[in-house]
Amino acid sequence: MSNPKTYSIVTLGSHSALQILKGAKDEGFKTIAVVKKGFEEPYSSFKVADEIISIDEYPDFSKLEQQLIDKNAILIPHGTLFAACSVDQLKDNKMLYFGDKEVLAWEESRIKQRQWLLGSGLTMPKIYANPEDIDEPAIIKFNGAGGGKGYFLAKNKVEFEEKIALHKDTTYIIQQYIIGNPIYIHYFYSPLNDELEIMSMDKRYETNVDSIGRISASDQLDLNLQTSYNIIGNIPIVARESMLAEFFKMGRAVVDKSKELTSKGMFGPFCLEMVITPDMEYFVFEISARIVAGSNPYIDGSPYTALRYPEPMSTGRRIAREIKNAIEQNKLDKVLG
Ligand code: ATP
Repeated sequence: MSNPKTYSIVTLGSHSALQILKGAKDEGFKTIAVVKKGFEEPYSSFKVADEIISIDEYPDFSKLEQQLIDKNAILIPHGTLFAACSVDQLKDNKMLYFGDKEVLAWEESRIKQRQWLLGSGLTMPKIYANPEDIDEPAIIKFNGAGGGKGYFLAKNKVEFEEKIALHKDTTYIIQQYIIGNPIYIHYFYSPLNDELEIMSMDKRYETNVDSIGRISASDQLDLNLQTSYNIIGNIPIVARESMLAEFFKMGRAVVDKSKELTSKGMFGPFCLEMVITPDMEYFVFEISARIVAGSNPYIDGSPYTALRYPEPMSTGRRIAREIKNAIEQNKLDKVLG
């Protein structure tokens, strides 16, 4: 089957589904949004979905497996899918799936992810194995793609113990807090032509860390405010041009390393999340081996995709373009996990 029109693109109606579905339509695919009941309106109002399937809860998605296989639907994963289904569930699902499923285990485990990133030659923040080791500001991160919810800062063991007592979750890491500017680089790697693209960049808009500066330091102390990192949106960034060469090297390094870790290696969209210090050191604290919501401001393309493509190219559309190219070249297996 080398006609893209015989396939559908399906994703959960959340996270980055608008650009995924719009991009798929632009590339000539039929589109299906699987949406939690009550959340249908964006997908009908913005006219990105040819079909909307409502479910009670996201984990019910797995019940649609056979129905979606019958529709020849290719599933595009994103953060909401990973929050709803375990890696094992995703591995067992027989639907056509865009991306390398083997790399999920390397992304999911913080220990394996660290091995991958350090093995790629990237610099990462220190990890404190024990609270008593905290000797400079640390950020405490709970497990799961929760969008930074509940993360807190501590400068020593005493402060850590005071604050951790307020949390029920016992799975966390204590990471060196890097003072600098966070920047999230969105890449796309094509296994069809071995090209790495920088699609766009963003920084996050988080509550309350991005609003604390609106009140004076004395008011902050009076109110006994604690910093939190609950994400509510994303803000576009264009980087200083002289940094781009290093960003390409970093992206290429994690792709090359992934090829040693899994049989196909990571491909498609991915994101390196880093903080850059005043000394221009790049501390990478996380990789997302998938489309990130930080690419949502660029549904109509970014300053970078404008350089490379004559048409507006979102990351969602780039995924559909890759699938279309693979179908037309009879290489669909190269982009399916
Ligand atoms: P994701 O949804 O991608 O899994 P997350 O929920 O794990 O992300 P992060 O992006 O890891 O959240 O971090 C939340 C916030 O904390 C972001 O503003 C990020 O810039 C900041 N941050 C994370 N790690 C560090 C660090 N080591 N030093 C400084 N800031 C950090």
